[in-house]
Amino acid sequence: MVLRILRFVNRAYAFAAFAIYLAAFVVASICVFTFPLGALALVVLGVLSLAFVALGRDVLQALERWMSRGALRAGRCPACRMGPVDGAGSPRVWTCRGCAARFEADGSQMQTVAFEREADAEGDALRTA
Ligand SMILES: [Zn+2]
Repeated sequence: MVLRILRFVNRAYAFAAFAIYLAAFVVASICVFTFPLGALALVVLGVLSLAFVALGRDVLQALERWMSRGALRAGRCPACRMGPVDGAGSPRVWTCRGCAARFEADGSQMQTVAFEREADAEGDALRTA
């Protein structure tokens, strides 16, 4: 359950950070005419908070990889919570037999499906050109 929430938070993290910065931009744009010091404070706060946002992302992703490794060792798939998962190859690659999700040895999920779709689209574009 915690891993599932963590996976969702990590997928939504970049969009949430962007939305917060976009909202700060809108507030700062309004402040330029009404309260210039507030706009300046928001710009400084935005630049200084960027390091903490990036650090938070790294910590959350490391936590997800750590919990994913535990689930994979227990034979459960972090993506669909079912399984079974096969671990084979060198370096070890975990593959879920239920949802075909693939995980690297460090616990991070591979984006093979999207990559294959992109490769297919490029191939189609080359064939038609
Ligand atoms: Zn799975």
